[in-house]
Amino acid sequence: MNVLRFILGDQLNLDHSWFKEVDDSTIYLMAEMRQETDYVKHHIQKVVAFFVAMRNFAETLEKKGHRVIYLKISDPENPQNLEKLISLYVEKTGVKKFEYQLPDEYRLDRQLQSICQVLEVDTEAFDTEHFYTKRYELKDFFEGKKQLVMESFYRMMRKKHDVLMTNGQPKGGKWNFDQSNRKKWKGTPEIPQEKFFDKDVSAIVEEINLSGAETFGNLDKAHFNWPVSRRDCLLVLRYFFEHLLKYFGDYQDAMHTDEKFLFHSRLSFAMNSKMLSPKEVVNHVLEYYNNYSHEIHISQIEGFIRQIIGWREYMRGIYWKEMPGYANHNKLENYNKLPSFYWTGHTKMNCLKHAIGQSLDTAYAHHIQRLMITGNFALLTQTHPDEVDQWYLGIYIDALEWVEITNTRGMSQFADGGIVATKPYVSSANYINKMSNYCTTCHYSPKQKIGEKGCPFNALYWNFLDEKKKHFANNPRMRMMLNLLEKKDKQELKDLKQRAKDIIQNPEKY
Ligand code: FAD
Ligand code: SF4
Repeated sequence: MNVLRFILGDQLNLDHSWFKEVDDSTIYLMAEMRQETDYVKHHIQKVVAFFVAMRNFAETLEKKGHRVIYLKISDPENPQNLEKLISLYVEKTGVKKFEYQLPDEYRLDRQLQSICQVLEVDTEAFDTEHFYTKRYELKDFFEGKKQLVMESFYRMMRKKHDVLMTNGQPKGGKWNFDQSNRKKWKGTPEIPQEKFFDKDVSAIVEEINLSGAETFGNLDKAHFNWPVSRRDCLLVLRYFFEHLLKYFGDYQDAMHTDEKFLFHSRLSFAMNSKMLSPKEVVNHVLEYYNNYSHEIHISQIEGFIRQIIGWREYMRGIYWKEMPGYANHNKLENYNKLPSFYWTGHTKMNCLKHAIGQSLDTAYAHHIQRLMITGNFALLTQTHPDEVDQWYLGIYIDALEWVEITNTRGMSQFADGGIVATKPYVSSANYINKMSNYCTTCHYSPKQKIGEKGCPFNALYWNFLDEKKKHFANNPRMRMMLNLLEKKDKQELKDLKQRAKDIIQNPEKY
């Protein structure tokens, strides 16, 4: 045996050049490890999804003729830790060389580098061949620039990869149709209901539980519904562009008590595990659009493409530019604990009850639920970004640090002081009421600020602005809000702050 190649659980890219040819002197190593189940407490569906997808991937490699060593979480031989695993199998197989694909998470990147330093065989790292950009492409692009504006990165990407361009100009005459993507969903257009898969995952759940790994969240063991193979992923992708794409942009920001997914694609796990490549997703969507352009408006397509070649690649680039310091940012000096109802969904605040409840049930919430409900409340209650990060990293099926931390600590909590977002995403009940039907059946009234029925978001919002205003003194995008704060009646502000203080100290009461 000449070469041992290690594959991480989020490196399930069957199209990688490693697998183009079958070579008997190369052996692939994959392992389900306690190291990976335990670095944060995870939703049970996330652990199941990764392990089943890994098992399917290993099986496909074997079917293609590759030699694979696969260690299940329950395997008595499994050292459950990367250092021990790699040194054990380098020795056991007697290989001359150890190879791996560059991890997307900083902690694994460092760990593999230090493992390689002590191995007594040659080592080499390879690109994952998954993303549009290289690790440090964004860093180079913004070299010397003060502001890392996503829009300019996105335009560069559109031009460079010739996506939605005609004669060097953006298709449809505009780079960005964000303004038209702000509709509230009121029951129409109808959303076709699809339960993709009904997998029975009881056996693997049993294995995970027996391993001692602690998880949380709900799971219907007989009806697991996340894509865990190439075939599954392609089904979800097809379903998206045939049924949902048409309205994706319009209802991107909408929220509703009866619809968890609305017109969102649910492709993040498929892509983050690398079973689907972003290029493949973009190309399929563009091809579909080219065939059906009379039925689909450019704004829907642009809205979706921006998420993939814009936000997704941008967040990854920011992560590699800013780590490891990024993980410690707490520029707004927030130190409170995350309210305990984030782990149960038990609260009278209907928006939080729904957003958290569906996250516990499905390991999924869409972007605006993450940003403007759970993220908004965590920031308004001045929660420590470490606590917020751990919750997001654990609960969502698609949560891997490179994309979780940049979205959470950066975009949502403004803890990076404005690297990712130009202003904090905070709002009172007004925005939530505008974009959802949550308020109509809530214990609280979105219009009231104080008193038993006063919506907690209202008092918290003004209190946040008042307490954190020194951080925004030089931020032009906050000027209007700070002017309104200045004009607030002193007694009203005092009452609001009093109520906010009680909510922050006793969030579980609300
Ligand atoms: P769609 O709405 O259908 O979007 C299509 C795709 O675009 C997504 O699958 C995703 O790959 C990409 N995308 C959209 N928005 C973003 C974004 N802001 N950053 C990066 N990619 C984006 N996304 C993750 O993949 N993992 C995370 O851990 C994660 N944590 C988040 C935490 C917070 C606080 C917030 C506000 C957002 C987070 N996001 C994360 C981004 C986004 O919410 C999810 O990608 C999206 O909800 C996944 O659902 P979907 O596949 O149905 O997405
Ligand atoms: Fe949320 Fe307030 Fe609306 Fe209730 S009234 S759903 S707490 S925003």
